[in-house]
Amino acid sequence: MLFKPISQNFSDFVIDRENDRCINCEVCVRQCSYEAHYWDDARQCVSHDHTKCVGCHRCEAFCPTGCLTIKKNPADFRDNALWTPTYMKHVYKQGDTGGILLSGMGSPADKPIYWDNLQLDASQVTNPSIDPLREPMELTTYLGSKPDKVSFEETSDGPKLTTKIGPQLKLNYPLMFSAMSFGSINLNLHKAMAMAATELGIAYNTGEGGLHPDLYKYGNNTIVQVASGRFGVHKDYLNAGSAVEIKIGQGAKPGIGGHLPGEKIDEEVSKTRMCPVGSDAISPAPHHDIYSIEDLLQLIYAIKESTEYKVPVSVKIAAVHNAPAIASGIVRAGADIVVIDGFRGGTGAAPTMIRDNVGIPMELALAAVDNRLRDEGIRNHASLVVAGGIRCSADAIKAIALGADAIYIGTAALVSVGCTLCGRCYTGKCPWGIATNEARLKKRQNPEVAAKRLANLVRAWGHEIQEMLGGMGLNSIESLRGNRDKLRGLGLNETELDILGVKHAGR
Ligand code: SF4
Ligand code: SF4
Ligand code: SF4
Repeated sequence: MLFKPISQNFSDFVIDRENDRCINCEVCVRQCSYEAHYWDDARQCVSHDHTKCVGCHRCEAFCPTGCLTIKKNPADFRDNALWTPTYMKHVYKQGDTGGILLSGMGSPADKPIYWDNLQLDASQVTNPSIDPLREPMELTTYLGSKPDKVSFEETSDGPKLTTKIGPQLKLNYPLMFSAMSFGSINLNLHKAMAMAATELGIAYNTGEGGLHPDLYKYGNNTIVQVASGRFGVHKDYLNAGSAVEIKIGQGAKPGIGGHLPGEKIDEEVSKTRMCPVGSDAISPAPHHDIYSIEDLLQLIYAIKESTEYKVPVSVKIAAVHNAPAIASGIVRAGADIVVIDGFRGGTGAAPTMIRDNVGIPMELALAAVDNRLRDEGIRNHASLVVAGGIRCSADAIKAIALGADAIYIGTAALVSVGCTLCGRCYTGKCPWGIATNEARLKKRQNPEVAAKRLANLVRAWGHEIQEMLGGMGLNSIESLRGNRDKLRGLGLNETELDILGVKHAGR
């Protein structure tokens, strides 16, 4: 007879405590939200249980004597190219529980990362570089539908634009904070994103959990999301933001809905989401009023009507096989912005099998969608925003060269405030105070401090983007959009180069 679940026989991590240097202060006991450290009465010292460790590194960071190291468990199974330890542990867990495997954050699966196979160009003799410290370097970005042509009339003050241009979302950087719902992350983080977005002149996205009353004042820098569950959606909410986003799909879990476990639904989340405390908040896979592009058109226009055509309406889809055709339909349905979320996008909770096996890389989807919209002559009718696995300013600028107008950053934003990608957001016990609503844990994030770190990250990327633009002899981000001649592929096959629309390095 087995006395404990098999999955607990094999821990992923090992807690290495140098007993000579440990002063038994119990800081690690207090910091670990998984109770992997404990006070051992019998031995009168702090001890630990490896099997409870999720590898968040919180205790290691806070140990005052630096005597803790969290390591990957070196014990390994016999080599087997098919049955890697990951798959064996999945099977043990499912044998123990009979349940769907859940994961948080984006897929760690070893699949192509095309950013690493794309190199940027740089000026040399002709078209010389521009020094961003001495020359103006424009990063301002306007998201929304642009007219096919513009007309002007001559006035005594010079030419005046006579074409009526639809509502635009103005960004000082081509970067925004991704949709992360209130509930999946706590109010401190939502407040931090709102404050940072306001300071930077960019936007953050509420995600599907509604907007807390304290955050309405940041509306000019807020994108309010409407997802299939319609949590927290009402007329004031729709009119609170500077854009409305309809979420059809999410890169981390294409084809399925959302699930916020009841443990994360406290009084405040319940009020904002308009759902009961402690009960699971499930967003269905489809919007129950959208079964065709015509239905989507109805929703887009219903939102435009209720916001009096003052803000752009965006539609977000996951990067899937036929993303170009879907995006074309979305633009023709009247969306002003199309968001493509790649398969490495983060999430608070997703079935592991879906996260790791469904969807396609954002790089390929972006290039294919941009091509399709150009071929159909409707590229200017909507802006393209991408999300899902942008790690640095170089990834971001490559995305812009591939055709994106702006980039959503989610995981990078959370990492900037301390996330260590432990992937256990769905437990509600985030030791870094991010994906948790437990009072003792969420106070680990101070909104002012987190806002400063988020603003620092975007400013740093902005400087780097300006440097890279200057190096290419460009003085505005607009000149790089869809300018794939500024990219070259490395180690990519003909099909990949063809889809990306870039030449191989050396050509
Ligand atoms: S925090 Fe460090 S010094 Fe304190 S009990 Fe834990 S391991 Fe020992
Ligand atoms: S779960 Fe985090 S805090 Fe707890 S022992 Fe592991 S690394 Fe340390
Ligand atoms: S948000 Fe928290 S729980 Fe989620 S991966 Fe980051 S550190 Fe882990």
